[in-house]
Amino acid sequence: EKIIIAIDGFSSTGKSTVAKQIAKHLGYIYIDSGAMYRAVTFFAMTQGFIDNEKFNIEGLISKLKSIDIGFKFNEDLGFAEVYLNGENIENQIRTLEVSNFVSIVSAIPELRQQLVLQQQKMGIKKGVVMDGRDIGTVVFPDAELKLFMTASADTRALRRFQELKSKGENVLYEDVLKNVQERDYLDSTRADSPLFKADDAIEIDNSNMSMEEQFETILKLVMA
Ligand code: C5P
Repeated sequence: EKIIIAIDGFSSTGKSTVAKQIAKHLGYIYIDSGAMYRAVTFFAMTQGFIDNEKFNIEGLISKLKSIDIGFKFNEDLGFAEVYLNGENIENQIRTLEVSNFVSIVSAIPELRQQLVLQQQKMGIKKGVVMDGRDIGTVVFPDAELKLFMTASADTRALRRFQELKSKGENVLYEDVLKNVQERDYLDSTRADSPLFKADDAIEIDNSNMSMEEQFETILKLVMA
């Protein structure tokens, strides 16, 4: 019997890494809901709706229906990459620049409504691991297993810093930490979901856990 696994938590808690491993192990589909919000942010930036400090929200909202976000499984990578209007933008959405605007963009109610609906459709057949901020609370309130991942801001900033560095992005640790803290604040004070931990979610603090330990912990919960 296939289930839905909802994984929520703050940025850089390692949700996606472990979610991918679990999905692969179970033969489930992994969906990175954050990639969808990042894709829309990338769209807003490249279409001129975000320009330095100015953000044309109305302009972006008027174009929402023309934004097509999809995923296509990449055999070599072992996970689905994100596409914006047919174009693979997987490598363009993880930059600090996109990260700096994504929480503002994702606060637009019209956008959330559109993406949540699309995410719910992807879960109709179950056998899905989806990670994000509102998966257990809004997208799949009836998910069979809900997890809430946490780790200290320092731990998370260091992980993100190392990840960006390894991709050749020239960033300062202080800037990454600032981004992590700002997104924590914005994501957790958003009007529609002040706190995205569902009452029935199981909290996992992975500050001091290896990837293997996280994988084993979650797998046990799936099998329970
Ligand atoms: O998971 P990730 O850090 O890539 O998500 C990027 C941003 O997208 C988050 O900081 C949050 O603002 C937004 N997001 C959201 N709802 C989700 C997933 C992500 O608002 N379900």
